[in-house]
Amino acid sequence: MAVLDQVMDPEIPVVSITDLGIVRSVSVDPPRVMISPTYTGCPATLAIEQAIRDALDAAGFRNVFVERVLFPPWTTDWITERGRQRLKAYGIAPPNPSATAECPQCGSADTVEISRFGSTPCKAQWQCNACHEPFDRFKCH
Ligand SMILES: [Zn+2]
Repeated sequence: MAVLDQVMDPEIPVVSITDLGIVRSVSVDPPRVMISPTYTGCPATLAIEQAIRDALDAAGFRNVFVERVLFPPWTTDWITERGRQRLKAYGIAPPNPSATAECPQCGSADTVEISRFGSTPCKAQWQCNACHEPFDRFKCH
């Protein structure tokens, strides 16, 4: 788990795969890491699997199977509190079921969604009416 804690998300390099809750379980016998893709068709999934393989190899864990678990499906509820803090510090509003988003730049709740899709399909584009900065908001799913 300490090795996996250092594997960062390829699209959001400030959050690790453990922050995102992608790692479902780790076992020693058999040596196996179970991960859940963030959503079906996410292009980062293969990059994440390769990054896990590279990190485990570099740490001397050469015969570990990396397996995908599709059920139960990953949900943004699995993002840890540290992950949410890191997203916010990076300028991305963490997922939240609320209809409004807090601006990660100035903290204002006077914000508006300007596009259902942001820099990736898992984020929406929002703008702050107080400081006028645009920002990504991680969508709940
Ligand atoms: Zn703002």
